[in-house]
Amino acid sequence: MQVFKFGGASVKDAKGVKNLINVLNKTGYKNTLVVVSAMGKTTNALEVVITDYFNNKSALQSSVQAVIKFHNAILLDLFDDEKHKAYKKVTVLFNELKSFLDTNKSPDYNFVYDQVIGFGELVSSVIISEYLNDVGLKNHWIDVREFIKTDNYYRSAKVHWEETQERITNNFNRTQLNITQGFIGSDSNNFTTTLGREGSDYTAAIFAYCLNAQSVTIWKDVPGVLNADPRYFENSQLLHRISYREAIELAFYGASVIHPKTLQPLQRKEIPLFVKSFLKPENAGTKVCKEAGLDPQIPCFIVKKNQVLISLSSLDFSYIVEDNLSEIFKLLHLYKMKVDVIQNSAISFSVCVDNMYQNLDKLLQHLKAKFKVTCNENVSLYTIRHYNNEAIGQLEKDKEVLLKQLTHETMQIVTK
Ligand code: ADP
Ligand code: ASP
Ligand code: MG
Repeated sequence: MQVFKFGGASVKDAKGVKNLINVLNKTGYKNTLVVVSAMGKTTNALEVVITDYFNNKSALQSSVQAVIKFHNAILLDLFDDEKHKAYKKVTVLFNELKSFLDTNKSPDYNFVYDQVIGFGELVSSVIISEYLNDVGLKNHWIDVREFIKTDNYYRSAKVHWEETQERITNNFNRTQLNITQGFIGSDSNNFTTTLGREGSDYTAAIFAYCLNAQSVTIWKDVPGVLNADPRYFENSQLLHRISYREAIELAFYGASVIHPKTLQPLQRKEIPLFVKSFLKPENAGTKVCKEAGLDPQIPCFIVKKNQVLISLSSLDFSYIVEDNLSEIFKLLHLYKMKVDVIQNSAISFSVCVDNMYQNLDKLLQHLKAKFKVTCNENVSLYTIRHYNNEAIGQLEKDKEVLLKQLTHETMQIVTK
């Protein structure tokens, strides 16, 4: 078995879907599971639908319509005959979405989010499956929610591994080309759950683990894992081979090319992960595997934008020690802040966080009752793995550094 994952960028339009066929034809698709994301920026568009549902009902219809229109244009490019069953299947899904929005009674944002957002993957996988069938790549569409079972921690659900393994072992047909959705699963009441933004890579890894697959390949718009995100850094270089450990570190610090949860299941069964270009499928790309450390051994740069730096000191100049720290961390946990870096001295404590759940105001209010608080929003966190002086100099040039931290292998700065 091989598992392929095609992300939003690879299937952002009809041309992308056609190119997916080119990739499958070049690589072979026997005993293959193809996991697909929502097309292009559909997930972001569905986030607008959710925001409108809660905050701007008058705009809701038009935001839903924008998502439908985007997919209709792709359908028209792919299927000449408007009686093709792809149209019907997509309409059924969008009707299901509309009916949910009409009838839902739950005020729980995270629950609603997961019921709505998954339509991106459902529609995308239906269109791709139908198109592959049309051009002779006979395949089997599967609803991933019948396989990946999770808890009901909506928007960041945890996989129930035993049940998932059992379902995959008993019900998954390995001998055919299967197409399914990334990112989503279902809870014990069969409500849709999601594994966290960009979670489709992780879906591929879950299946690979449960199927003892030979490899996972994630097809990207870059040649592989580079030593820096080409959107923000010039002259980034391809990393040919990386160990699981190194890849986990890169993903952890925010190299968004691989979802951080993807690597651990693969590492456990020593299943290699390939990151390759969907435009040049014949190129080797990057191999993440057990042996290699980092080849070539060069500094790797990672940036996380839109972070928040919070600095605390005690109101009475007493030390910030265990009891204060445990209280601070309890609050960070309560408000679901993703902690990137911490630094403390005797009377101060700084923490750089990702305000993923928009709880910053509540957190600050709570902290201000106990501490003197300063807060810098919209800061950037830069990390260099395997830094050297030249790399640090290059990075710090022209930047106002608010916090800096060095360990043996990793250097981090928070900048304005
Ligand atoms: P998809 O969702 O289509 O699978 P993503 O957009 O999530 O793909 O990931 C690919 C993008 O990741 C690239 O276009 C690139 O800008 C970004 N990226 C961030 N860090 C790296 C890195 N170290 N190497 C390669 N790409 C990176
Ligand atoms: N479509 C989802 C997202 O954009 C999941 C994924 O692409 O991996 O976050
Ligand atoms: Mg993505």
